[in-house]
Amino acid sequence: GAQRESKVRVRAHFDYNPDVDPYIPCKEAGLAFQRGDVLHIVGQDDAYWWQARKEHERSARAGLIPSRALQERRILHDRSQKDGIDLDSKQNDDFDREQIATYEEVAKLYPRPGVFRPIVLIGAPGVGRNELRRRLIARDPEKFRSPVPYTTRPMRTGEVAGREYIFVPREKMDADIEAGKFVEHGEYKGHLYGTSAESVKSIVNAGCVCVLSPHYQAIKTLRTAQLKPFLIHVKPPELDILKATRTEARAKSTFDEANARSFTDEEFDDMVKSAERIDFLYGHFFDVELVNAELVNAFEQLVQN
Ligand code: 5GP
Repeated sequence: GAQRESKVRVRAHFDYNPDVDPYIPCKEAGLAFQRGDVLHIVGQDDAYWWQARKEHERSARAGLIPSRALQERRILHDRSQKDGIDLDSKQNDDFDREQIATYEEVAKLYPRPGVFRPIVLIGAPGVGRNELRRRLIARDPEKFRSPVPYTTRPMRTGEVAGREYIFVPREKMDADIEAGKFVEHGEYKGHLYGTSAESVKSIVNAGCVCVLSPHYQAIKTLRTAQLKPFLIHVKPPELDILKATRTEARAKSTFDEANARSFTDEEFDDMVKSAERIDFLYGHFFDVELVNAELVNAFEQLVQN
């Protein structure tokens, strides 16, 4: 028959082997998995045994796995054995359930039909996160949009208020940053620049995909801003590929005078080192890693997921 649609996707935080589970009603019906596997929960009718199948094994049958409640109970039981805690006493309520790692819901790119999570491109300077954002928007400007940033610098001739930037007085922007109205901000040559949470929300609420490419230090504020961003680490390829592709790209580049020069070997090394540092500091936050060799293809796939 037709495969049942999964309601929930979770990432398992523990290994499970039904063969050594004395309580499973039927070992043959069990589904083995490992910590880190993504599971589609296809049945939650039973309080103790859920039905699930593993992601990327769509043809495979669904099997029984312990429910969250059962697994929490087991972990608590193991801990109480170890620490001599009486499981049935009221003390039990003191356990913080958040601390019991069982299954973590995996956020989707589409939280509701017609609503897209903001895509946040993070990458070491020079690897191409801004260029990637520009290309994405150029490809489908109806779908991908970036908010107009705020700045406190004076408007230049040829600029239009609200097009390049929303120009605001310093005191106003200082106060708004203080009030948490910016999802990211930075200072450049004595002027403030930043992206407001409102402008991100209005793009999301219009049914478009909001694309941001802030400095990597913005990861923390973006993650706490209740925007549920889809974080992508744009990584450089291997050093020799990086050098070859970027030198070629630069030779063809016409869009930006200041950038129309080659990177030095030192700059290439810095890119690779910065990327490693970003990985080390924030690696666990990323939903996806993209190696920026052939970008647009990777994106198309991603957004269609
Ligand atoms: P310009 O004043 O020449 O338009 O921009 C100078 C610099 O301001 C940019 O290179 C960039 O580093 C910074 N900038 C522009 N927009 C933003 C923004 O939305 N947020 C942050 N943090 N910096 C920005």
